[in-house]
Parts: sequence; C-alpha cells; structure tokens
Amino acid sequence: MKNEKILGIHHMTAITDDAQANVDFYTGILGLRLVKVTVNFDDPSAYHLYYGDGLGTPGSALTFFPYGTGRQGKVGAGQVTSTGLAIPPDAMGWWIDRFAAEAISFDNPFKRGDEEVLPFRAHDGLPLELIASPEYKAGVPVSEGTVPVDKAIARMHSITMTENYGDATQNLLTGVLGFEKVSEDEGRIRFRGEQDGYLDLIVDPKAGRGQGGHGTVHHIAWRTTDEVTQKDWQEEIASLGYHISPVMDRDYFRSIYFREPGGVLFEIATLGPGFDVDEPADTLGQGLRLPKMYESMRQRIELSLAELRLPTGGHIPPRVEVTQNV
Ligand code: ZN
Repeated sequence: MKNEKILGIHHMTAITDDAQANVDFYTGILGLRLVKVTVNFDDPSAYHLYYGDGLGTPGSALTFFPYGTGRQGKVGAGQVTSTGLAIPPDAMGWWIDRFAAEAISFDNPFKRGDEEVLPFRAHDGLPLELIASPEYKAGVPVSEGTVPVDKAIARMHSITMTENYGDATQNLLTGVLGFEKVSEDEGRIRFRGEQDGYLDLIVDPKAGRGQGGHGTVHHIAWRTTDEVTQKDWQEEIASLGYHISPVMDRDYFRSIYFREPGGVLFEIATLGPGFDVDEPADTLGQGLRLPKMYESMRQRIELSLAELRLPTGGHIPPRVEVTQNV
C-alpha cells in the first residue's frame, strides 16, 4: 500500500552553547513554553531542552542540545539555514519593538509573497525568522508566557534548507516523501506536505558548506501519524538504498533518521505519545525528566549538568531549602 504523505514539520533540533542562555531566550524573549527538560539520550551529561506551544504540539517544537564546550558552527549549504516561526499578521510591529528593546540582532523586515519576514538571530547566532502570514493559526496558549496571546508564536511556519545541488533532494521530496511543490520564487522553491509547515529549498551552487556546531541546526524532524506509518517509511526509504536508522524510542515520540541527498539529517517522528507521557500537562518542564535507563543515575547526572534556573522557579540540581534557626 502507498505510504501516507509526510504530514509536515514535527520538530527542529539545534546545537547551542549555554543552557541558561537558551532557556532565557526561548522562554523569556520568544515566549515559548519550556515543555521538557531532559538529557541527550545518547549522552546524559548534556541537556536536551524542548520548547513549543502550551503542549509542545508537533509542529511547534524547537529542541536544543546545549554543549558548553565545543565550537561555533558555520551556517551553510547542506544544512537547515533558517527556521521560520509563525506570528499573527498584525504582530510584526510589536515584535520589532520587543527585539529593539531587548537588543536582539535582527535585519529589516521584508515581504516574501503575501508574508512579512523578520530575520533575526538567537543568543548563539542561530538564524531564525518571524513570519507574519495570513495563514496564521494560533497554537495551544502558553499560560505562563511572557508574550501576549494575540502576538504569540504559534508553530513553525517553515524551515529553509540551502543546498549546492537540488535535483536529488527535490526527487526525494516529491517522488518519495509526498511533498508538493507549491511555488518557486527568486531561487526559493517551496514544498508542503499533507498539512502545514513548509520546506523552502534554496539551491545555490556557490554557497559554502555549513559546519555543525553551536548556532546550527542538527536535524529536522517530519511528522508521521504513528508507528505503523513510520514502519512503512522505514521500509520504503531503505528500499531506495538510503541508510536508515532503527526505530529509536525518544519517550515522547518514536524516531527514524536518514540523511537526504543534500546532506541534511532528516528524522521521521510519530505524533505521540507526547510530552505529557511522563509529567502532567500543566507542569511540563518544571523538573528534570530522565528516561528509565538513567533514572538510577539521577543524582550523578544532576550534578554533572550545568546549573539551570527554570522559568517557573525550579532549579537543577534541586535546591535544598535550609531553614536556619534564629
Ligand atoms: Zn529529533
């Protein structure tokens, strides 16, 4: 049976330097919710931080591996070179004022079709865009958010990949993954899956190759319905000669990984079970969650992680209240 099409973006994962700066930027400046604090399942001495709308709905999730040591990356060909975040059509002025007041590095806004685009950089240099589009649909509200609900970032509008040669990638997107080409304008080819979340491909033979490191995207995850459709993808992609990973249990979703012809690491992730599988939805991200295999090492892991102040007042490692007798 023919696979379903890729539904859209699931999450974007980037490498960053400082965990605290990352929390402060994505929750404090951008007003996203910290929906999960856990560790890199392959290296529990490093955090894995997840942000998103009020529930970290697939399509809204930005995730980060903070590696305190390590080098600054170089954004370039073979990478996701920008991540677009959807804001309401009338919110651009409000965001420009906010970025100016908070000394965030941004470029002049410009029009791309019927969208208004504000390119800016995160604390670590990661290229991002705010995109005010008539297609904006609000996400699950962030109740403790620092941004008013009517200005809030909803989910990812698009990701942009830059490649030196685009043909093989385009064939994969439209011939295998079920993406549809929706437009081509000034070297930007736009694709969409079954649902929302665009993939913009820029083909630039002269673009320098990117280098992984702080401030660069590690991979982009596409969403699929469940383990059954994921298995179909795994079989089909393997049959085309790609090296594809086994199914990995990421606790909050299941993942498979492969590298597309232009060099970008693709993940295909299931919608569920979701971030409320190991803590209640209303207290997501308020403490360190560990996968079962690491729970017995919790104390050691907490001590090995950089200290982190959470937006809701929590602290890692947990602070012991000392009551002094007067
Ligand atoms: Zn991922």
